[in-house]
Amino acid sequence: FLKGKRALVTGSTSGIGLAIARALAAEDAETVITGFGDQDAIAAICAEIGAVHVDADLTQPEGAETLMAAAGNVDILVNNAGMQFVSPVEDFPVEKWDKIIALNLSAAFHTIRLAVPYMKGQGWGRIINTASAHSLTASPFKSAYVAAKHGLAGLTKTVALELAQSGVTANCVSPGYVWTPLVENQIPDTMKARNLTREQVINDVLLAGQPTKRFTQVEDLGAMAVFLCREEAGNITGSNFSLDGGWTAQ
Ligand code: NAD
Repeated sequence: FLKGKRALVTGSTSGIGLAIARALAAEDAETVITGFGDQDAIAAICAEIGAVHVDADLTQPEGAETLMAAAGNVDILVNNAGMQFVSPVEDFPVEKWDKIIALNLSAAFHTIRLAVPYMKGQGWGRIINTASAHSLTASPFKSAYVAAKHGLAGLTKTVALELAQSGVTANCVSPGYVWTPLVENQIPDTMKARNLTREQVINDVLLAGQPTKRFTQVEDLGAMAVFLCREEAGNITGSNFSLDGGWTAQ
């Protein structure tokens, strides 16, 4: 149902962004992916889903400008690129703070400001921002990430109000723990370090705060993004959808 629509998904060379790009491409959107990684692997993804890849460092405003110029007129914008760093606030490296705010928050401002004129002009658009359970709640030692994700949720609500009568919606999708290689690869080391079984690591460490005791799957985020592009979702704007197994209900 997305034939003739162009979708740009940031941070789509792996993880959640790749799953969202796959899901939009499966609905026939012309899909533009961006993010870092092995060139052959990126070429293989492009061939598999019929996407084009644009290189851009989104920690710089110029990176977002290059990306938007290369992507052309975008009907569906998914701001998903993000990074994490864990440290007590008093030791938090200043350059890490600046980088996380730049990628997890400011990059979305830049792509949105550049995408909105076309969306508004045609009277249709979808802005979907990958926030996090950490857009609604905090954990210690993640000051930059939590601040950026709360900021992204605020930006999304503001943009939703500004565009409320334009046919353009803006929403957040907010995962809790998602089953990615990054999570899976931590399990053996944590088993050794804490002398726990695989099940104990999953339930008592990783999923300690996730009441369903299940990981969100990247495909769940893809399906949610596709739903938000449907006409039935046209009156859903300024919302923040939790896909977190009940984490933020506590
Ligand atoms: P990931 O590390 O698998 O992917 C991150 C993507 O961002 C990659 O494509 C990477 O190349 C790209 N990227 C990194 N630095 C960049 C830069 N400077 N410029 C441009 N692109 C850059 O991450 P993921 O786990 O799929 O996370 C995607 C989003 O979901 C992030 O915003 C993250 O905060 C959020 N999230 C993830 C989880 C989780 O459990 N994995 C939970 C909540 C929220």
